[in-house]
Amino acid sequence: MDIVFSCPECHQELVVDAQGVGSEIQCPSCETLLTVPEADAANVKVRGGDSSAASKVEKHFVVPTYDEPGKSLITKALPPLEAQKDGDKKVRIKTVRHTDCKEVAYDAFDERVTELLNEIGEANIISINTINYSFVDLSTKQLLSDYGLLIVYKG
Ligand SMILES: [Zn+2]
Repeated sequence: MDIVFSCPECHQELVVDAQGVGSEIQCPSCETLLTVPEADAANVKVRGGDSSAASKVEKHFVVPTYDEPGKSLITKALPPLEAQKDGDKKVRIKTVRHTDCKEVAYDAFDERVTELLNEIGEANIISINTINYSFVDLSTKQLLSDYGLLIVYKG
């Protein structure tokens, strides 16, 4: 049986085994010392199927849950390209040529551009322009034309 309650300081949801009632624990979130409350109808949660002796004596914490799941994780997962202040950023360009992205029997242009755009970050992109260019194909000695992208960004 588990007792579910919130830390009075930071409102972190805590789950402690009922055997921990009355004992002092440290909130894993804000490190406040708090006392595990008595079990009552509101805070008791029966753990389904879990009756091993070890887990009965062990006080344990659950991973915190939020009303908006994963919100903070998403913000952390997309950091700016560099930890620079906006004022330190310079306008830069990056040219992606289609021929540079061709591998043997495989066209990685879209993947490379996608990677690059994510690296730069949407907020830093000023403009994306298509370009056409000519080049001499080394194997056929022919003059070929191809396309690419010119990305103007802050970074
Ligand atoms: Zn706390």
